[in-house]
Amino acid sequence: MKNNIMIGLEIHGYLDTKEKLFCNCENMHDMKKIKPNTNICPICTGQPGSKPQLPNKEAINKILQIALMLNCKPNITPKNLTFQRKHYNWPDMPTGFQKTISGAHSDHVANNGNFQQINITEIHLEEDPAAWNPDKGTVDYNRAGAPLVEIVTEPEFTSAEQVESWLKKLVLTLSYIKALNKDAGIKADVNVSIKNLSVRSETKNVNSITEIKKVIKSEIERHLKEKPKSMETRRWNTTENITTLMRSKENQADYRFIPEPDLPSIKITNQRIQDLKKQLPESPMDKLDKIIKKHKINKTDAEILTQNIDIAELFENIIEKVEPRFALPWITIEWFGVLNYNKKTMDDIETKVEHFIELLTSIQKGKITPLKGKEILRKFIPKSFSTKQEIKNSSKITNKDELKKIILKILKNNPKAVEDYKNKETQALNFLMGQIMKETDRRADFVIARKVLEEELK
Ligand code: ADP
Ligand code: ZN
Ligand code: MG
Repeated sequence: MKNNIMIGLEIHGYLDTKEKLFCNCENMHDMKKIKPNTNICPICTGQPGSKPQLPNKEAINKILQIALMLNCKPNITPKNLTFQRKHYNWPDMPTGFQKTISGAHSDHVANNGNFQQINITEIHLEEDPAAWNPDKGTVDYNRAGAPLVEIVTEPEFTSAEQVESWLKKLVLTLSYIKALNKDAGIKADVNVSIKNLSVRSETKNVNSITEIKKVIKSEIERHLKEKPKSMETRRWNTTENITTLMRSKENQADYRFIPEPDLPSIKITNQRIQDLKKQLPESPMDKLDKIIKKHKINKTDAEILTQNIDIAELFENIIEKVEPRFALPWITIEWFGVLNYNKKTMDDIETKVEHFIELLTSIQKGKITPLKGKEILRKFIPKSFSTKQEIKNSSKITNKDELKKIILKILKNNPKAVEDYKNKETQALNFLMGQIMKETDRRADFVIARKVLEEELK
């Protein structure tokens, strides 16, 4: 039966742009942070007489980049993209229609893609409606007019797990071009049917990968049991983990699409596509492959590195000058540790790769101790800097006589630890090493210092 399961997705994501699609209001990252209806203007609240401005160029570029990353064919001149009015009456859309590049009278932004073995039917761009709260009767327009991408797949998935892993790759890939607003997540309409047994049902607006997976499992079970014979639109009940009927095919909405008379068609030139193509990064899957095969990094570490394009690129640039195996823990353990401790991502930090190279090279060449290196790395927040001066001031102490002087002083000041050591308490040695590091401001060569210490303790 598994081979007969057909799953297709319509995935919606918020594009990460500075402004909304048809006005100059900010395209907010975190809607929850601001009061309702404070990020609005006559255009995005659909005031009578207001007209949309020309569509946001950044949004069009982002959607074209998405199309290219998913190996779609963007529709270029002489074919045109035309916004259309998709009519419906609902409190979230005061104009009575949504402006979208989909429907009968336009080319899609792009078609015929393929991403990770799944065919992409089409990609389009549309404006987000306002947020209506039916319990209170309030409408918040802060996000109204934000640009949304819709990615439609062919019904080629056959299991919830396959959808999950594919969506994770999709989200990661789109993060490489910083196409989507990370805080907003994705929503999907989830279509499920079973060949020769049931007719497709579409579950609307499922808003995370985890929930999408649950919907698929629940719908497969329901289809096997009920064998639905007509097309249905359903909604997901997150508290009971079941879908319920919204409307059947007979009452499908008729959107009465017409071309939007207030907006010109958009001409996409071949030149624009070529320019965008040149700026595209490698896909995360290609990067992973390269880091494993070319730089001989194990899969687990390579996956950690490629979860974020800035980290992956930082690593790739560092290892042009530093041995990959030496650099690896300095990124995956130390630098990650510093970022996490400060609750920062690479986006928040100004980094220059040469600063990392300088630091790691000094550690590797033994100019400074790893401990000192970690201390300097922690200072790379919020901004990395040239470490030349710090390194000069923190050069490693390898001279035995110099170390001996310091160690004798420490032994004199810590008679209890010396006593403990003689009574075979192993912790005492660690304690004394700690004192040496403290006394030398972490500059003592660990191996030499330990040797001198052991000699003196005898
Ligand atoms: P609608 O406007 O009704 O949502 P679309 O053609 O836009 O119709 O949506 C089609 C979606 O339904 C696509 O994601 C597609 O993969 C999926 N789909 C189409 N046929 C089936 C099917 N038999 N089983 C499961 N999903 C399907
Ligand atoms: Zn506005
Ligand atoms: Mg649909």
